[in-house]
Amino acid sequence: MMGQMMDQPLLVSSIIQFAARHYGGSEIVSRRVEGDIHRTTYRDCELRARRMAGALEKLGVRMGDRVATLAWNGYRHMELYYAVSGSGAVLHTINPRLHPEQIAYIINHAEGQYLFFDMTFLPAIEAMARHCKTIKGYVAMCDRAHMPQETGIPTLLCYEDLIAASSSDYAWPEFDERSAAALCYTSGTTGNPKGALYSHRSTVLHAYASSMPNALNVSSSDVVLPVVPMFHVNAWGLPYSVPLSGAKMVFPGPALDGKSLYELFESEGVTFSAGVPTVWLGLINYMMQNELRFSTFRRTVIGGSACPPAMMDTLIDRFGVEVVHAWGMTEMSPLGTACTLMAKHRALPPDEQRAVLRKQGHAIYGVDMKIVDDDGSELPWDGATYGHLLVKGPWVVSGYFRGEGGEVLQDGWFPTGDVATIDADGYLTITDRSKDVIKSGGEWIGSIDLENIAMAHPAVLQAACIGVQHPKWAERPLLVVVRRPGADLSREELLAFFEGKVAKWWIPDDVVFADALPVGGTGKIQKNKLRDAYQDHRLP
Ligand code: ADP
Repeated sequence: MMGQMMDQPLLVSSIIQFAARHYGGSEIVSRRVEGDIHRTTYRDCELRARRMAGALEKLGVRMGDRVATLAWNGYRHMELYYAVSGSGAVLHTINPRLHPEQIAYIINHAEGQYLFFDMTFLPAIEAMARHCKTIKGYVAMCDRAHMPQETGIPTLLCYEDLIAASSSDYAWPEFDERSAAALCYTSGTTGNPKGALYSHRSTVLHAYASSMPNALNVSSSDVVLPVVPMFHVNAWGLPYSVPLSGAKMVFPGPALDGKSLYELFESEGVTFSAGVPTVWLGLINYMMQNELRFSTFRRTVIGGSACPPAMMDTLIDRFGVEVVHAWGMTEMSPLGTACTLMAKHRALPPDEQRAVLRKQGHAIYGVDMKIVDDDGSELPWDGATYGHLLVKGPWVVSGYFRGEGGEVLQDGWFPTGDVATIDADGYLTITDRSKDVIKSGGEWIGSIDLENIAMAHPAVLQAACIGVQHPKWAERPLLVVVRRPGADLSREELLAFFEGKVAKWWIPDDVVFADALPVGGTGKIQKNKLRDAYQDHRLP
């Protein structure tokens, strides 16, 4: 017997329709590329997204066609999230920090039809346009007054002109919820980037699940500033989960330095944010140097790479900001786990609670996970045994766009490429990416643990641990460290700091000091570059 509930497809357009109708006056505030602060509402966002969807139709964009963006977090980008996907086309967000050759590769691979860009990226577009074979037109995300004059870009259109020329009669179409909605390529530290193709169904379910209290816990009383870019796995779904929750949205545009972020947090009353650890570094340093405090900011999600415990302690203890450590990946839309406490943890002393919060967290409903050994046998959830992490769920990829990489699932599970432990309560701890694990004498050493210890030293600003060749042990850990400005720290002092904190054989063999660490397009430290740079390093 079938149920008798209405059969309504879960479409991305339904989110902005809901927000416009039920939270129509909630604000979207953006720091624009033009430099000023722009204010709009969900009501207006939905209207302009519909007009843009009509404009796309007039341009000949059809169901399934790819429409690319090279843009910062801002209201026009948000409009495109809904205009493109809502019309049935596929929103392809591109990371502008990638190498231009990689960007051209991605656009050609995705066979994009139109490319929308923020003016910051005009020079990149000029250099790239002749390599992008399938693009029929480029749309500058500005008004007529800001349009560039002399460019070599073929078919250059103006965003605001397109909206002005389009009527508001456009109605959101209804189609199969399994249709493609958005496309995002993994940054591809090895080999070419591969595309994760999200559906309307996966996007809406992910937005629902990720706003729950055990995950991001977004509500209509929040003011949300996504620092994580809209070109990095759809800003972790916030452009969907925030309007779904009716919260006020604040977009930082291109200004991601500590000062600009702090000012926006304060002027707009931001309560909740999300980003990778490297962005918090800039904000924390700026606030420490200027002895500042937050007046409204209460909670942040940190993920994308391991949140160093020292950073978590500073945010909680010095700034009163609750940290939700989360783990996920492009292939998972991205959220897999988030770390919040269970009722039984409330009775624990603060340092034991903190030890739980340092983990990558608990699976959210919709995601299942397991750890396996090299033969694929499932390993126990004891918090100590580590193995390859596999996941499954309705917002996890079943394969890559256009079949790249062939069959990726193993018995219906997606191999994450991460190595992890899971404890008896179901809390996940990521030990490493499998390609970053250091293999010493047949045993694994987790680089994240070693980095976390180094980062807890007051003279250390950043640390990364890599394996370098060793004649006897195959590989041994080498620590690459950036000292805090003005701090004094020797190799011996830092190595002594590890004593008693890990097994003796885990302690790095050597330390090298660097001015900076290589950071990739999504703000993560590029260990492959460090391995290349130090492959011939002679350990003492
Ligand atoms: P890319 O590989 O393109 O950078 P993602 O941004 O999807 O793609 O990165 C996903 C990977 O980032 C995960 O597989 C994991 O290795 C790492 N990661 C994400 N969150 C965390 C976290 N909280 N702690 C440790 N590693 C993390």
